[in-house]
Amino acid sequence: MVDLKGQYEGIKDQVNTSFQEVIENAAFINGPEVQQFQKDLEDYLQVKNVIPCGNGTDALQIAMMGLGLKPGDEVITADFTFAATVEVIALLQLTPVLVDVEPDSFNIDPEAIKKAITPKTKAIVPVHLFGQVANMDVIMEIAEEHNLFVIEDNAQAIGGNYHSKNGKTEKTGAIGHIGATSFFPSKNLGCYGDGGAIFTNDDKLAHTIRGIVNHGMYERYHHDVVGVNSRLDSLQAAVLRAKLPKLDLYNETRKKAANLYNDAFKDEAHIETPYRIGDCDTHVYHQYTLKIKNGKRDALAKHLQEKGIPFGIYYPIPLHKQKAYADSRYNEADFPVTNQLVQEVLSLPMHTELDDEQIEYITGTIKEFLNA
Ligand SMILES: *Cc1c(COP(=O)(O)O)cnc(C)c1O
Repeated sequence: MVDLKGQYEGIKDQVNTSFQEVIENAAFINGPEVQQFQKDLEDYLQVKNVIPCGNGTDALQIAMMGLGLKPGDEVITADFTFAATVEVIALLQLTPVLVDVEPDSFNIDPEAIKKAITPKTKAIVPVHLFGQVANMDVIMEIAEEHNLFVIEDNAQAIGGNYHSKNGKTEKTGAIGHIGATSFFPSKNLGCYGDGGAIFTNDDKLAHTIRGIVNHGMYERYHHDVVGVNSRLDSLQAAVLRAKLPKLDLYNETRKKAANLYNDAFKDEAHIETPYRIGDCDTHVYHQYTLKIKNGKRDALAKHLQEKGIPFGIYYPIPLHKQKAYADSRYNEADFPVTNQLVQEVLSLPMHTELDDEQIEYITGTIKEFLNA
């Protein structure tokens, strides 16, 4: 599904040199690489504050802690996503409120958000799924009207642009009150271990969060709030510093691969290629996810497995049906889209090193099977 070894070839000298430097300087935690990466990312995202942390799940949790959400507060998020988002809501004893997604973009449905708002609602967490930004214009309007925080889960969409209806272009993750991302190795900007970051233009919130990530300390050995230990280490920051200048190029390469897939599948009756909102720079293709129609998904998956072609089913079970997050308040009739998507989605290999020949082989194998 990904080729991190191939990508490493293009940044090998820089990564090896900076690893050597980190080791020689022995500043493994909070070294200069971390501070420089933080500044590099602030510049790239055009956001006032980046706070690096240990991973993307922590980033979401710390964002919610920083906003002062309290047990019992309701947080609305998408039913069709990776579990990390709902997991941290539940861990903090907030009340997760899962809602359905849009059938085309796979992203949280603003109409479903509106229906789910109660006097206890405090925040909305849109997840920019598979690399495509959610409908932020409408989500921000809803949030403003109801006085809610918007926490963007940008783990799959770093580098994407959002063209809002007022004509502004903003980087995904820097549109809401706060953004969270992951640098897990396979993400569009990934390190060689775990890593994450939180972004916000709110200086006061950023100050609060800088303490939370460091055991609630604002002054050494003075613990003002309950915090956590969550940090990006210097070796990971060195990798990220080598990759960040190439992120736009990496995302361009993904889009080229997506276009080749799209072309190959354009006349296929059983395949719906990924929907793309407007200009393609709103989608950075963390995943290339097809809908396989007419009940043929599972048979195709089995065939790909036999042929040794990697694929993924993201995600096979709606979150509202997971044991940990099931809740008697949920009504199946409220999740028609997610319930159908889990039966149709299939993601194909998507990374920066895919070549035309590989794509031809993958698409040819799929077309041959579906038309047999
Ligand atoms: C990867 C991911 C996370 C979690 O990131 P980790 O660094 O693995 O903790 C959260 N949300 C989404 C949507 C993700 O894809």
